[in-house]
Formats: sequence, structure tokens, C-alpha cells
Amino acid sequence: MDKKIVIIGAGVAGINAATKLVDNGYPGELITIIDKGNDPHNRLPEEVMTGMLGAGGWSDGKLTYHTAIGGVLSKYCGEDKAMELMDQVINNFKRFHPKPDEIFCSDPQEEPEFIKPYFGLRMFPVWHIGSNFLHEIAKAWYQYLIDKGVKFLWNTEVTKILFPTNEIVLGHDYFKYDELIFAVGKSGIDFAQQLSNEYKLPTEPKSVQIGVRFEAPQKYFQKLIDISYDFKLYQKFDNVSLRSFCTNNNAAYVAVEETYGDVTYNGHAKKGKEFENQMTNFGILMEIKGIKDPFEWSRNVVSKLQIDGTGLYYSPGDTRKPGLTSEGSTVSAAQVNWLYLIKVAEVMDPYFKYIVNFIDDMNKVFGFDDDYGIYIPEVKYLSPEPLVDYNNLSLVDFPNVHFIGDALSARGITVSGAQGIYVAEDLLLQNKTEKYPDFIESF
Ligand SMILES: Cc1cc2nc3c(=O)[nH]c(=O)nc-3n(C[C@H](O)[C@H](O)[C@H](O)COP(=O)(O)OP(=O)(O)OC[C@H]3O[C@@H](n4cnc5c(N)ncnc54)[C@H](O)[C@@H]3O)c2cc1C
Repeated sequence: MDKKIVIIGAGVAGINAATKLVDNGYPGELITIIDKGNDPHNRLPEEVMTGMLGAGGWSDGKLTYHTAIGGVLSKYCGEDKAMELMDQVINNFKRFHPKPDEIFCSDPQEEPEFIKPYFGLRMFPVWHIGSNFLHEIAKAWYQYLIDKGVKFLWNTEVTKILFPTNEIVLGHDYFKYDELIFAVGKSGIDFAQQLSNEYKLPTEPKSVQIGVRFEAPQKYFQKLIDISYDFKLYQKFDNVSLRSFCTNNNAAYVAVEETYGDVTYNGHAKKGKEFENQMTNFGILMEIKGIKDPFEWSRNVVSKLQIDGTGLYYSPGDTRKPGLTSEGSTVSAAQVNWLYLIKVAEVMDPYFKYIVNFIDDMNKVFGFDDDYGIYIPEVKYLSPEPLVDYNNLSLVDFPNVHFIGDALSARGITVSGAQGIYVAEDLLLQNKTEKYPDFIESF
């Protein structure tokens, strides 16, 4: 019997899962996607995290192509399979792109001498979809799924799921599922945590990922950008490793993220001459191992790095001010002086010094002196990762509930989408073997 599949979250992970299913003949009528945001025709620019294609739909559209970037994938399925799954995600973005010829791939090959001995440079291909094409991609993709019969429930936030009885509670209604794909991304992190507590889901240990978003005129970094557009500088110490993260150039804007009511920072780039600002921004993220309760620790640090309901901005000698968002308003941040950095260092004790050293070392290589600013904090909340069956990302206690994307362990578009496809492949295989017990086909 074909199973009723419900996907919570129309983000990159959920949409790739649904696409894999219908591409392979799974009846779209049996798939329902529930999302608390809007469809692509009604989604507003300020709805950064919710709606069709999720955070990925309003992102910078950079599809990284390496298993060490964007969260965990090969741990579940091995290196070769992970690369093949990522290929499928990239092909989906190309397929629904209005101008696939404009997608380009940066693929740096050699570490430049001038960053040594201060940094290593992690090199991997990145597909640049172009953030201003994402809306059109979302619309075309949505239409494809609608045409295949997939049902969507928009503006519908799920707040309760009864795993033991396979039901989603929506107001007074109980919505039954046979298989549930849980793909709520970062904007659903509270809900994921609530379910984890309620059902006492076993978890895997996690590290802390916290730091700042660095912003400076692009000219200082041009020699590196020419080699690697989305460069990933890294430094490694005993229990702390640092990396530059999600670099944006040319028309680079810092974005405000709100999680748990606190302000944190991220960045994105726009395409089109009218958006160019000759700025570069990127995260400087520390991965800290060995903190007992990493999730609580990060939340606590972030909540202490707020002034008047917003995050902090520091530029030496107030040389720079917070920049403009792509919509033309000032990025929300309270400007602080160097004395305040002592408090920041206390809150992040003993780790802030690694960020200060990282910036000092960058200054030796790129020579920007005081001409930069940092937005504090940037954080990747790695909520406790539920323990899943590595074959199909299902909860060990509830085998018909699959966690995927940022709700599981991903931190980027390609890996999130790949996890969705991985689960869909297993469901297709299950369905085939149930329908035709003698027929086993491997994907
Ligand atoms: C500004 C910004 C720029 C980024 N740039 C890049 C980039 O260039 N490259 C990259 O690889 N990654 C980037 N990312 C990260 C990337 O967007 C995410 O890793 C990716 O979208 C995660 O996919 P997902 O499907 O797991 O979650 P999402 O894409 O976030 O989708 C989750 C969906 O679930 C819905 N949802 C949440 N809770 C509920 C609920 N309770 N009930 C119903 N629906 C719910 C949301 O509305 C959302 O549509 C960026 C993120 C941001 C915020």
C-alpha cells in the first residue's frame, strides 16, 4: 500500500525529498507539505526563514560541494553516496533555474603562499545560483510539485505531534501520517527541542559553533577572492578550530537573524549592479569541543551579548558604522567601544581571544588596519542532534519519523537537500519492496 507521507517544512530539505519521491512515480496526492510560512508568490522579502524553500529560498544561493562543509552527511551514507546526493540537489536547482547558463562554479585548486603561515585555506567547489534567482526557482519548483499532485498547507505552524499514534495536531483536527519527514530548519529549532524533551529522544554529542560576522571593504581581500570566491580560512588549536564562514562579496549585506528572541548575524550577497557596495562579509566561527551542554552554553552566551534587544557592533576607533541591509535600512546593532569588548571576552571566556588573534592575523595578510567592523554574535545552534538510524535518518524510537536538514545536523543548502533525497530514496525502496516483495532495486 502506498503510504501517506507528511513533510513538515517546505524548506530545501523537505522540497528535495518531495521532488525525489514524485520524480520516481510516487503519487503526489499522498504527499502533504505543511509550512508555517507563505507560498513563493506571497512570501515577502522580510520573511527570511519561512515559506517555500525555507531559509534556502532567501539565502545567498551558494551550493557548497564538499562533505566537510555544511554539516554532517557522509557519516550516514559514506563519502561517495554523499557526493552523489549533493549532485542531485545541485541538479534540482539548475532544473528550476530560469537562466541555468548564469550559474557558475568556483573551484580553487591551490593554497596561495601569501596566507601562509597564518592560515590554511579549505578548497572545494561552490555553485553560485544567484540569490535574486531564488524566487523564480521557488515558483517554478512549486508549480512542478503542484502539477504532480502534492498538497501544501501554508501559514500552518505545527506545534504538536503525537509520535506513538502517528498524528499531527492542527487546532482541533488530528492529521494522520504513515511516514513523517520532519524538516523544520532553524526557524523550527524550538519545536524540535520541545519534541526532543517530550519524547526523551536519545541524542548525539555536539560542539559549539559561535563567533562574529566580519565586514570590511572588499579591496583588502580581492587577492584571495580572485583565487577563491567563498574562501574558507582556517586555524586549528587543541579544542578550538576557527574558520571563516559564508563569505559574501561585491554586493554583500549583513543579515539579522532572530532565534530564541535574540539577535545574531549572518550574511548574504545580491546579484545585479544596483546592489553592488564593494563590501565583503563573512562569519569567523569557532568550533569548540568539550563543552558540557553546548546548546545551553551557546544560548546563554548569545543572550548576554545583546543590548536593548539587539546584537553588538564594534569597529576600532568607531572607524565604521553598521552597514545597510539589502532593503536599505541600517543593520540592527548597538555600536560598542573597545572597553565593552572586555565584557564580550568575559562572556565568551576563554574563547574570544581566538577571534581577536584571527583578526590580527588577517590584518597581517590583508592589511585593512582599523577599516573593519564586527557584528557580535554569529552562532550556529547545533541543537542536540537526535540519534537516528543512519540508513534512513529515522528516530531510533519512532522508525517512521525522519529528521532531515538543519533540524537534524545540516548547516547548508546542499547537505539539507541531500538528506531529504536520502530519506526519499529509502521510502521509495520500502514502498517498492512492500508492493513487490520479490523485487529489490537499489538506487
Ligand atoms: C540569510 C541566510 C543566508 C544563507 N545562505 C546560505 C548559502 O548561501 N548557502 C548555504 O548552503 N546555506 C545558506 N544558508 C543556510 C541554509 O539556508 C539552510 O541551511 C537551509 O535552508 C536549511 O534547509 P532546511 O530545509 O533544513 O530548513 P529551512 O530551509 O530553514 O526550511 C524550514 C522550513 O520549515 C518551516 N517550519 C519551521 N517550523 C515549522 C513548524 N513548526 N510548522 C510548520 N513549518 C515550520 C519554515 O517555515 C521553513 O520554510 C543561509 C541561511 C540564511 C538565514
